[in-house]
Parts: sequence; C-alpha cells; structure tokens
Amino acid sequence: MEYAEVMFNAPMQQTYTYIIPEGMICKTGQRVTVPLGRRTVTGFVVHTGTAAPTESYVLKPISRVIDKEQIFDEGEIELAKWMSSLYLCSPGEALSVMIPGGRRDSAIPALIADDEFAGNPHALTSHQEEAVNAICSGEKSLYYLFGVTGSGKTEVFLQAAERTIAAGKTVIYLVPEITLTHQLSDQVKNRFAGRVAVLHSALTPTQRLIEWMRIRRGEVDITIGARSAVFAPLRNPGLIIIDEEHENSYKSGSSPRYHARQIAFHRSSISGAALVMGSATPSLEAWHLMKTGRIQRLELPERVSGGSMPKVEVVDMTFEEGAISRKLQQEIRSVLQKKRQVILFLNRRGFSYFFHCKTCGYEMTCNHCSVSLTYHKERERMVCHYCGQSKRPVSVCPDCGSLDVGYSGFGTEMIEEETAKIFPQARVARLDTDAAKNKGVVKKTLDDFKNGEIDILLGTQMVAKGLNFPGVDLVGIVLADSALHLPDFRAQERTFSLILQVSGRSGRFSHDGKVVVQTYRPDNSAVRLGAAGDIVQFCEQELAMRQMTGFPPYTRLSRLVFRSRDKKKVEKMADQADKILHRIISDIDSPSDQKAEILGPVECPLAKISGNFRWQIIIRSVSFPILRLVTASFMNQVKPVSGTFIEVDIDPVNLL
Ligand code: ADP
Ligand code: ZN
Ligand code: ZN
Repeated sequence: MEYAEVMFNAPMQQTYTYIIPEGMICKTGQRVTVPLGRRTVTGFVVHTGTAAPTESYVLKPISRVIDKEQIFDEGEIELAKWMSSLYLCSPGEALSVMIPGGRRDSAIPALIADDEFAGNPHALTSHQEEAVNAICSGEKSLYYLFGVTGSGKTEVFLQAAERTIAAGKTVIYLVPEITLTHQLSDQVKNRFAGRVAVLHSALTPTQRLIEWMRIRRGEVDITIGARSAVFAPLRNPGLIIIDEEHENSYKSGSSPRYHARQIAFHRSSISGAALVMGSATPSLEAWHLMKTGRIQRLELPERVSGGSMPKVEVVDMTFEEGAISRKLQQEIRSVLQKKRQVILFLNRRGFSYFFHCKTCGYEMTCNHCSVSLTYHKERERMVCHYCGQSKRPVSVCPDCGSLDVGYSGFGTEMIEEETAKIFPQARVARLDTDAAKNKGVVKKTLDDFKNGEIDILLGTQMVAKGLNFPGVDLVGIVLADSALHLPDFRAQERTFSLILQVSGRSGRFSHDGKVVVQTYRPDNSAVRLGAAGDIVQFCEQELAMRQMTGFPPYTRLSRLVFRSRDKKKVEKMADQADKILHRIISDIDSPSDQKAEILGPVECPLAKISGNFRWQIIIRSVSFPILRLVTASFMNQVKPVSGTFIEVDIDPVNLL
C-alpha cells in the first residue's frame, strides 16, 4: 500500500496521511483533493511512501489528483518550511502562496505594451559598466545599485542578466506590479526572445500555471514579475534582481506576511545566486546594510539620457487659496507655452476628504470603519476607501440639522476640476484607480500622454512610479506632506522617498526640468531634504532618530493584531495577550540588552475596519532570535476564542 503526506492551506503544522488508491498515480509536488472532516479540500502532496503510518485513526483515500505534472519539489517544500518558521504560519500556508492556484491574486491592472522602449541595448556609460562588472564578478553575493532617477539602472540590470544567462544560469527580475504593467516587460521580452516568463496579476490561474510550468521545465532563462515571482522555480539561478527595493508592495498584506526581499536573501544564500537591489531611494534597512558593508554599494550618480536633475522649489500652502498655488500655476503656464508636458501628483483619490458640521462638530465617517468618507463627485457618493461602502452626499448636518456644513481636503477629482478651470485650453487627463476601473484606460492614457496628446496628466502613484516620459518638464506635487500625520515611524521615510521618486519624472530628457513641491510643512526635514534631493543627510538624520527611539534597523519588530466584531472581546483578548507575553518574556533567559519589550496593547490607529474592532501589540528586541522565540511561544500558547482573530506580522511595514 502507498501513502501520501498532505499539507493544507490552513493553520495546521502537521501533515495528514492519505491512502493512494490502487491504480492512482500520485507523486510529491502534485495537488490533490481529499476528504478532510466533512469537506473535500485541496491539499499539497509533500511525501509519498510505503511505510505504514503509526496513526491509529482510519486513513482515507485521496479523491483525485489535480495536476498532471509535479508543480513543486523538495526545494519548494524546504522553502515553505523555512518561511513557516520565519513568518509563523504553517508550511502548507507558505506553500500555498508560492505556487500558482494556491491563492487568488489581488489587483488586476491592465498590461501595457510599449514598442518604443523595446529597443536595443545601450552602450554603457563607465558607471554602468563598472556596476555590471561588479555584479557579474562573482566576488560578493549582495549588491545595491544606488542611482539617481533616470541614471539607467534598468540597462545595468538587463546587461547583467544577459551575462548571467550567457554563463548558463537563470535570472529572477522583480519589479513592483505598478511598473510591470508598462514599459519593462516588453523590453525584457524583446531582449530575451522566447526565453522569458512574465508573472503578473492579470494572468488567469491557468495562464499562471502554464508560465510556472515553463519555468520549472527549464524553458525560460529569465522570469520577470511582482512580489510572488520571487518563488519562481528556476533551476540554477545566477542572479536575482529587485528593482525599486524601497517599495512597500514587496511585503505581502495577508498571511503569511512575507517580504520578497527577505525571501530573495534566503534564495540567494542557499543557491549562491548574486542578489542586486536597486533604487534612487533605498529603504533605511538597506542603507544601513550598505553602511555596515553587508551589501556592496554601486553608484550611478548621473542621468544618462541627455537630461539633468530637475530644479526643485518648495511652496508653503499656508498662504494660498486654491489647491494649485500661484507659483505652480505660473510654472504650468510656461511649460504649456513651450509645448512641453506636466505631471501633477496627489496621493488621494476622490473629490474632497471630510464632511463636517460647523455647528455641532459632526464628521461623516463610515459605519463600519473608523475613517472619514471621501466625496466622489463623479459618482455622487460618499465612499469609504477601506471597505467600499458608500452613502448619499448630504447638504445638511445629519446630526443637528444645521446648514452650516462644509467639505474640506482635496483629492484628484478636485485637482482635475481646478486645473481644467485655470487652464481651459490645456488637455487634461486623470489617472487613478477610479479612472482605471474602465478597461484599457491606463494604457490609453499613458500612450496618449507619451504621444503628446495630453498636456497635463494628473493622478496618484499610477502616474508617478517608474515612468519614463521624454516630454515632461514639470512635476507638481500637490500635497507633499499628506503621509506625515500618520502615526507610523516610517512616515518621514515614506514622505522623503515619495518626493524624490515623483520629482524624478521631470526633465529626464531635458535640462529645463522643474518640480514644485506644495506643502503646509516646509520646515519638516523629510520635505526639505526631499526637495533638496539630499539623501545622505536624510538617511543619516533618520538613522540617528531610529537609533535613539529604538526602531528598525536597530531593532526588529513583530506585530500582533487582535480583531473581533465584539468590542469587549477584543479588549479582553489584548489584555490577556499582554499578560501572557510578560510571562513569556520573564521566563526567557536573555541578556538584559536583548530582552524583548512590549509596546501596547493599544487600539490600532485604524481602530475599526469593516466592522472589526482592532487592537495591537508590538513586540520589539534587538535580537531577532529572541523576538521570534517570544512571538512564536505566544502564537503556540494562545487559541483565540470564537469570533476573535489574531494576525501576526514579522517585520511589519505598516502599523495602521
Ligand atoms: P532609472 O531606472 O535609473 O530611473 P532608466 O533605466 O529608466 O533609469 O533609464 C532612463 C533612460 O535612459 C531610459 O530611456 C534608458 O533607455 C536610457 N538609457 C539607459 N542607459 C543609457 C545609456 N548608456 N546611454 C543612453 N541612454 C541610456
Ligand atoms: Zn451638526
Ligand atoms: Zn468602511
């Protein structure tokens, strides 16, 4: 008799044994359906053998084998086990995020073709050449390509990939989903004709599986994709590239909350592949590792396509009336006269942000979440950006009946309206996730902009990240400090990096590039140094602050979020968790300077989402093994009562 060991996408540490019925062919690496309790579920076969299991319960047979071929092997199983010990999930949960069909993917942006940039290799500048040589030297394993915006990082990655492939090895190329959707994937397809797999979220599960199997069979040399492409089953990887390393989208927002950078470090260390990250604004974690020499820094200090770094001006909005300052208006006018183009960036969609009553102080918030509703003029609705619920807009206070009410705070819809009013002759287009809901809009808008059929493109990060438009001479950042008020120790870092990245779209092919940074906090150091492009000063200052306050990269954190629809239950749970954690920590014999600390319990800054009340505890230690031990012991000891849930996040990037 043959038996199979099966794992599930469920929080169960152990495997389950099933009988392989006579005549059924079932191997490690296949998905199967099996009876579990009263249900039939999908499982992953991680071992087969003839040794009779010792369990006393009655074994059931496998119902059906899903896959014709093996879709994963020992390598993936090992990686899943490693992930399970790092992220405190089950190995089955880890496996399910790695392989296609294990999980649903989220956002589905359109894939954009771009012929113009499908071009031939550039002759490298000396800085680029040095970087490619270093990456391919085989001397070290970790590199960081630190280059200003427009310095030709892509070309370095592509040529390093070419050399790696010429040496008989394979390449994983990670990019944020948002940049995968345009220019890059076609460029890669062209250069590595036929030997490329692209893993993006617009693929159906079947298409994804087809790409996955091409990779497994060794039919491709290079795989390009977003976060989950870090699991691509390439044989003999020689190079892993992480473009835009600072991007938060490399961290998974649902369990297991893995970071692609962390997985890439691990894959690089077990396979011997070189890992090269790149950005104009490295994360402070990466900056710190460069300083300590763990990662070798390679610099590209200049723009390469004939442009120079833009001139940046900061405008204090305190003294302005509309959302577009007089200075920004003046700059827009002069760029339009020269028949050049403008990008206006604002990280908030919708029309306006708050509805409030000036008589009684009432604010309109979502019934299910502790956030204000955003007024969307096009849809004539007040919308919650967290749960999507909406209400009809009102003109009298629902609480006291006063007519003295107002809307305040501006979003992209309002900027569009204001821009069209001030520049009636200009062709204005808006691009944000609302506009992108209609199929094909993203591609058409970006194509039109590139072809000069739009003068002013405004929108959220969709217009600002990784894009390369030769005609852009002016970038206006409508509100640079919008993230500064968030209660998160990374608020400064995010603000700084966003200003630099968005500014980087201006003047890539000319010497007249300008940026106007609008802000209510011109003295804030992230705003000031972001505008000055002074990354060294910013990182040094911010690192000193992190060291003083005990935050990463000087400590490691884990975050526990407790949630329930029952407010009392969740408070009680957080309170008990606090007691248990104190006991666990005092039972562990750790050097006093490495002792784990508990921050909280406190209500999450987003105290309620979709009807769930949320509390959190942050655990912190300078020692990662101790942090992990404390967090793991806690997760092992605590069984949430019915109707309550615990989420665990190791190295969280989001504390809201
Ligand atoms: P980054 O990613 O560093 O912001 P990109 O890789 O987008 O910069 O490159 C900016 C532009 O420079 C692109 O249009 C690219 O084709 C061009 N480019 C890259 N390398 C060279 C080179 N050696 N000579 C001329 N142009 C180059
Ligand atoms: Zn009122
Ligand atoms: Zn809501």
